[in-house]
Amino acid sequence: MALNDVKFCPECGSKNSSDKKFCGDCGASFEAAIKTAQPTQPTKTTEEKSSFSLGVVSLIASILGLSCFPLLGSFVAVITGFLTTDWKSDKFAVAGIIIGFISIAVLGGGLILLIAYLAMV
Ligand SMILES: [Zn+2]
Repeated sequence: MALNDVKFCPECGSKNSSDKKFCGDCGASFEAAIKTAQPTQPTKTTEEKSSFSLGVVSLIASILGLSCFPLLGSFVAVITGFLTTDWKSDKFAVAGIIIGFISIAVLGGGLILLIAYLAMV
């Protein structure tokens, strides 16, 4: 008998041929066992919820960093973006990180140019 033709009873563990519907030893139903043994979808709604909101916080902070809270908002955006669970697959978090980095680079570059300009004058 090939290995594929054998299945083990979930109740008593005895060998049965795979075409059997009931265990030859204890009479347990294989149909029911197969149905209950189906892997259930992992529920991660709470995780998705928290990461979603953090990504949105990151995006909002990056917009605030562009408008009313320069640098502070951008730093908050980058930090919350990276804190987001699985941020690479969260478009809000990615957008927040990118916008945050761009505004930090623009503001930082502007500050360096200003200092360089003041040093030269
Ligand atoms: Zn059995």
